[in-house]
Amino acid sequence: MIIVFMGPPGAGKGTQAQILQENLQIPKLSTGDMLRAAITAGSEVGKKAEALMKNGDLVPDEVVVGIIKERIIQADCATGFILDGFPRTINQAQALDKMLKDNNLIVDKVICLDVNPDIIVARQAGRRIASKSGCVYHVEHNPPKVPGKCDVSGEDLIQRDDDKEDVVRHRLEIYADTVKPILEYYESQSLLHNVKGTSSVEAVKTEILSIINQK
Ligand code: ADP
Ligand code: AMP
Repeated sequence: MIIVFMGPPGAGKGTQAQILQENLQIPKLSTGDMLRAAITAGSEVGKKAEALMKNGDLVPDEVVVGIIKERIIQADCATGFILDGFPRTINQAQALDKMLKDNNLIVDKVICLDVNPDIIVARQAGRRIASKSGCVYHVEHNPPKVPGKCDVSGEDLIQRDDDKEDVVRHRLEIYADTVKPILEYYESQSLLHNVKGTSSVEAVKTEILSIINQK
């Protein structure tokens, strides 16, 4: 099962991908998480990505395609995976199909979460993340059990550098400029499922699970 999550930054892709990962027992692959880990590690990829991410710009296609290509051949991806934040350009969508085809695989479902920009800015302001476990929280809508600590790993939660309002608005503009051909690409293959992302985390989860369970 290969699932792609689409939707603007802050739509809830990471939150739902995390829930689905536990439900389906297949890993969530977040290019944003991988790039943040590369920055922390000080790797070549991290050096290429750091300034771009801080400004809310996209990292070059060849960098993200490279990290996904290496990741999907790992043993834990053998029965499937969930993509969160990739593809973000039509080139990435086509590169994904090519690397899947080389392994006799295809994308099974594309879930696009729809949330309007004002709600997104409010969500990002309250977002807190756990970089080791990959869990995502919101100070009001989805708080951890112990304030400031991850429920899964106990690590300290942090606020992302690119969750400031001006950077969030820039990321939303980039999304609006790049998403149309990707959605058309998946629509033309009858893979696209639109889900209203403004309902509660639980209600969005229920809708996604019903889509996943449809043949
Ligand atoms: P994305 O991965 O699409 O950027 P996230 O999953 O990180 O989005 O969610 C952005 C913020 O919104 C987080 O703080 C998250 O806890 C919160 N959030 C996610 N889904 C919902 C929801 N359905 N209702 C309210 N807040 C949500
Ligand atoms: P995310 O965690 O998905 O919100 O991504 C955070 C940032 O990482 C984005 O604003 C981009 O700078 C970068 N990034 C993540 N995924 C990609 C991708 N598929 N293509 C280009 N840049 C990406």
